[in-house]
Amino acid sequence: MKHLIDPMDLSRQETDEIITLAQDIIAHRERYQGSMSHRKLATLFYEPSTRTRLSFTSAMMELGGNVLGFSDAKSTSVSKGETVQDTVRVVGCFSEIIAMRHHIEGAQLYATEVSKVPIINAGDGSHSHPTQTLTDLLTIKRELGHIEGITIGFCGDLRFGRTVHSLIKALTRYSDIKIVLIAPDELKLPDYIKHDICDKCGMSYREVATMEEVMPELDILYMTRVQKERFLDEDEFDRVKDCFVLDTAKMALAKEKMAVLHPLPRVNEILTEVDNDPRAAYFRQVENGKFVREALMVKLLEWENDPAHGMPSRGEPILDSSLRCPNSKCICNCEHAPGKFRRTDDGILRCWYCDHKVK
Ligand code: ASP
Repeated sequence: MKHLIDPMDLSRQETDEIITLAQDIIAHRERYQGSMSHRKLATLFYEPSTRTRLSFTSAMMELGGNVLGFSDAKSTSVSKGETVQDTVRVVGCFSEIIAMRHHIEGAQLYATEVSKVPIINAGDGSHSHPTQTLTDLLTIKRELGHIEGITIGFCGDLRFGRTVHSLIKALTRYSDIKIVLIAPDELKLPDYIKHDICDKCGMSYREVATMEEVMPELDILYMTRVQKERFLDEDEFDRVKDCFVLDTAKMALAKEKMAVLHPLPRVNEILTEVDNDPRAAYFRQVENGKFVREALMVKLLEWENDPAHGMPSRGEPILDSSLRCPNSKCICNCEHAPGKFRRTDDGILRCWYCDHKVK
């Protein structure tokens, strides 16, 4: 069975197939209406969402299918103490596919261990957000005509911004990508992305201190919100909350064909004066998200029983009950998930579910 928990669960070929199908759906919407009739999507959202949940709902409705689920776990048996695995076992009796968002990192990966229907990770804490990645890839393709060879600047909260982590991972599948990281010290990209992902794949990245110094070379500027809800220390948030702001003066330094992406919601990191610039692609990006989620659901259900489209191996887990993941927001520390780890090429032991360094 094919789930989508991490962008690397899709091969480059599968990713291309989804993006191509999304483009075909955009061009011939009428052909796909009804293609999911009698199919049911369950949206299990344990954390707030506007675009992701509604775009999944709208996508399923456009395909003629039905949607059930919750957007507030407090109104469900979760408030009685039901575990993620039990909820997924139950919901799998009522639906053919599940999209789940959770504030606990690794919750969806843990859920796949018992699920009998495909699970789509719609965001797990500050870890991953693979359907936003598909949205971003489709948007880059539509805005620039290609993904290979681009220079992309990630700006803002690269530490807690799960969309950044997932997109960087996916970009390792494309050739000649140059990454520029623009973030204050407190919000720098996690080490596991720099070392396990970029260094291992030979993807070039550099860190800069200002937006101005890189604007002229960027093909894509990927802005992000500082993720207030992930900070444990409010003073730290106050220190960095206004770190980078995109305005028309900075846009004037950029290429004529650059595109500005943002997973949204924005707070104050892009001034509204930028919205009318033709390079501001963030609202077009939202619409792309609906089409790519249509394509994803069609493909996951098509691949469900096809052995050629299983889950890629995550390697052999190391089970050690004497070790704990240090991340208090990991499924290991929130439910009864076992202590499960993987060793990276440079000898570091990382949590199986959330990638945090254990030792
Ligand atoms: N909507 C995106 C997410 O769910 C970005 C954000 O919340 O800032 O990760």
